[in-house]
Amino acid sequence: MKRSQHLITLVLAVAAATIVVGVTLAAPIAAAAPESKRPRSVVYLIGDGFGPVQVTLGRLYAGKALALDGMAVHGSARTYSLTGAVTDSAAAATSLASGVKTHNGVIGQDGDKGEAPTVFDAAERAGMATGVVTSTRVTHATPACFYAHARNRGMENQIAEQLVGSDLEVALGGGARFFPAERLAKAKANGWRLVQDRKALRVEAKRGDKLLGLFNDSHVRYGLDRRGEDETEPTLLEMTDAALDVLGKDGRAFALMVEGGRIDHAGHAHDAAAMAREAVDFDAVVARVLQRAEAAGDWLVVITADHATGNAGISERIDLEALRGARASAEEVWNNVRRGHGDDYEPKAAALTKLAAERWSVELDADEVRAVIEAKGRYENATTLAHIVSEKMGVAFFTLDEQRGQLTHGHDGVDVPVWAAGPGAARFNGNMNNTEIPGRIEAALGLGAGARSSETPPRRTAPGKRPVY
Ligand SMILES: [Zn+2]
Repeated sequence: MKRSQHLITLVLAVAAATIVVGVTLAAPIAAAAPESKRPRSVVYLIGDGFGPVQVTLGRLYAGKALALDGMAVHGSARTYSLTGAVTDSAAAATSLASGVKTHNGVIGQDGDKGEAPTVFDAAERAGMATGVVTSTRVTHATPACFYAHARNRGMENQIAEQLVGSDLEVALGGGARFFPAERLAKAKANGWRLVQDRKALRVEAKRGDKLLGLFNDSHVRYGLDRRGEDETEPTLLEMTDAALDVLGKDGRAFALMVEGGRIDHAGHAHDAAAMAREAVDFDAVVARVLQRAEAAGDWLVVITADHATGNAGISERIDLEALRGARASAEEVWNNVRRGHGDDYEPKAAALTKLAAERWSVELDADEVRAVIEAKGRYENATTLAHIVSEKMGVAFFTLDEQRGQLTHGHDGVDVPVWAAGPGAARFNGNMNNTEIPGRIEAALGLGAGARSSETPPRRTAPGKRPVY
């Protein structure tokens, strides 16, 4: 068919579709582009612990449709790992980066402990710039699977060493504690420039390549705990903008992975308000990426989650005003209670009661205060507190006893959503295995056919292990 004829047919088809559909349906905000066009770049967004309930809770908390809701292409992904029906972030991110199933805890290796090549390897081979952005430590499981290979996610020193030696052009997040002076010197010798606060990030992002941002010793602060004007840590949105500026300079093609990493942490901690806020902050990143993708015209945007967390449930009693009124995470409140009150029960109880009223407008009775203070260990204190407060707000989680016995400490095995926009987006419709996603991205970008033909189910499993389904 000639081009002009093709165009006329297309116009007529669109007009007809508009007449049929347009009356009842609003036009999607980010429509899928025609398949004939190839994307040059890809932005791959992963919400850690961002399952269907987290999405809905974010929407309720925002009180309006999310940017995600306007995306035309919406599928779902199966998440099981070789360990079983419930994956951890390391196994899931290995699937999302490399297209293979592996055991929980493993970074970038398949079920036989062989190095699994990533979608970033394929992108780098094609001359594209690559980068990772996260609200967790840059050495944490999800980002690590895009540049490192390790038999255990806990090997963050070795993972940091691999980051420093990697071909990435950008790595932004927390995790400064894994970058002592000696390692930073090596990073510098490898061309990395270091930034450690949001002002420096803004300046250095304009100067180009090899930008390493370490904004907290551990994870970047929860959105709920940010310190207003005095905040020195950039938001996930600011980091994403900076990374896009660096990667896309001079019209280069690039692949960027952005992780909303702390939705999961709030889920583990049973902190409904912090979880909702992290979900909404992640959606703000989605909105910005979609906006910039639309202006660029040739970016593929793919969004998914590694798994859901906490077995969260929205009950009839949900109190959206209370949820929206929350002014701190339970972790922050507990840290405040702990500091300066030693081991004396009464001052701690008084501080806890006061802060619960101030930060959440929640009244704790004497039994609840006792349960929080007498829980064993700082993490258990904060989780017990969050569990009680979330329950009062009408959001349920696993029972604390049930969660304690779990290897993933509270992930759940439900399918996760997949969204896509831009050229190539239509490949992400329907239900797929999470291992199929990187191959579909490579196919859309036209990256070396055969590097991985992962539009098929997982290729490798450990001896004696069969896929769950
Ligand atoms: Zn988790």
